[in-house]
Amino acid sequence: MTTSNQRSEHFTVAVVGAGPAGASCANALLIAGVQSVALVDRAAFPRDKSCGDGIGPGVVPVLEALDLTDVLKGRGRAANITLSAYQAPPAVLDTDPADPDSVLGYVIPRLEFDDTLFRAAIARGANDLTGWSLSGAEYTQSRWRLSLKNTDSGENRLITTDVLIGADGARSRVRRVLGQPFNAAAHTGIAIRSYGDAVGGAHAAVRFDIREDFPRPGYGWAFADGKGHTNVGIGAFATSFRGEHEKLDALLARYSATLEGVVSGPFRKHWTAILPLASQMPPLAYPDNHAALIGDAASMINPLTGEGIFYGMLAGLWLGEELGAALQKGARPSDALSAFEQRFMAYLGRHFRETYLLRVLLSAPATMSLFCRIASRSPHTFRNFIEFMFGPVPPRRPQTLVHLAMAAIGLR
Ligand SMILES: Cc1cc2nc3c(=O)[nH]c(=O)nc-3n(C[C@H](O)[C@H](O)[C@H](O)COP(=O)(O)OP(=O)(O)OC[C@H]3O[C@@H](n4cnc5c(N)ncnc54)[C@H](O)[C@@H]3O)c2cc1C
Repeated sequence: MTTSNQRSEHFTVAVVGAGPAGASCANALLIAGVQSVALVDRAAFPRDKSCGDGIGPGVVPVLEALDLTDVLKGRGRAANITLSAYQAPPAVLDTDPADPDSVLGYVIPRLEFDDTLFRAAIARGANDLTGWSLSGAEYTQSRWRLSLKNTDSGENRLITTDVLIGADGARSRVRRVLGQPFNAAAHTGIAIRSYGDAVGGAHAAVRFDIREDFPRPGYGWAFADGKGHTNVGIGAFATSFRGEHEKLDALLARYSATLEGVVSGPFRKHWTAILPLASQMPPLAYPDNHAALIGDAASMINPLTGEGIFYGMLAGLWLGEELGAALQKGARPSDALSAFEQRFMAYLGRHFRETYLLRVLLSAPATMSLFCRIASRSPHTFRNFIEFMFGPVPPRRPQTLVHLAMAAIGLR
């Protein structure tokens, strides 16, 4: 019901959630020429997000397509990656940060990264509806009525839109409105991150550690951003932690203490959050209702690594391209929404299935240790594993498990 203090406005597309997925989608729509785009977020920007801040190599071509590579200015790619598992010798791969074909990406605090993407969308003409939380949504007479609540004042606002994009993260309200349940615990990760000071090394660098005292499967990370800060965290399946979230804090403290020579305290900005994994994705397109889900709202998180920024941004870009082209031609959005889903799943469906399978295989300490041993002796195998693990760099196709196995036995 509209009350006297409610305003009502109409937009062609409303993107709910201005994180990497939503901001990429808004940018792509505006580049395609769609003029009436609302970008809704309950937070005011710049806003932080619990994350490892690892920006995978696949993000670079997405940023290029959106003309947003400025966000990488003054940042170097990671110069090396280390993987340690139990008692096996660690695998280390050094790369040239200036190499555009490096298999490694960047480490950029989300506070800064997300703000740049968001501001670019606003500069291109998106309507800034940050500070407004989506509290309800209803599809009637071929349009969406969205109820928004101001995060500070509690003021209500009603907007309408032809197309609704849910990019509102792991606890997506849009997903619920579309009748999609959240992922089961077995397909949900839980992770904690904090920041410490980098010790030595002027370059960005990433390391993953798998230890006896971690839940299985689970790993710790330390991602140095090359500017003096290191993001330290631990991630595992939600089923390993049911009802015991405080254990993550204690584990993180123990893990951080083992990273002498890499990072030093005091450790700050601890933040635990969930990761809906791509081993259980909802449908992406809702052609009958003129809606779509992208990013964490659609569980687009790599089940092996917990990486989600790349997949969310690629989805945002491709959805914006498909939908933008259809709207500019005056076509109905339904076909464009379905075309987006087909394009995305054709490119990444197998990758998500195989990364999940590998995660299951590597959850046994014996397989993980064996793998780490092989990777420590064979930089070629390790490199192939990294490419497989972080996902494809468009337009290249994703590596498959068959490629990885062939590399391990020297056939590739
Ligand atoms: C601890 C941790 C470490 C991680 N490390 C990495 C990593 O190193 N690399 C990587 O690639 N991925 C990582 N991930 C995953 C990554 O953080 C997510 O995949 C990524 O943030 C998804 O982007 P998104 O735009 O879909 O969602 P988000 O970034 O979560 O953005 C969603 C936005 O929606 C807004 N919102 C939510 N509800 C509403 C509402 N009702 N109304 C209006 N707005 C709303 C939120 O304020 C938020 O701004 C990590 C995740 C965790 C938890």
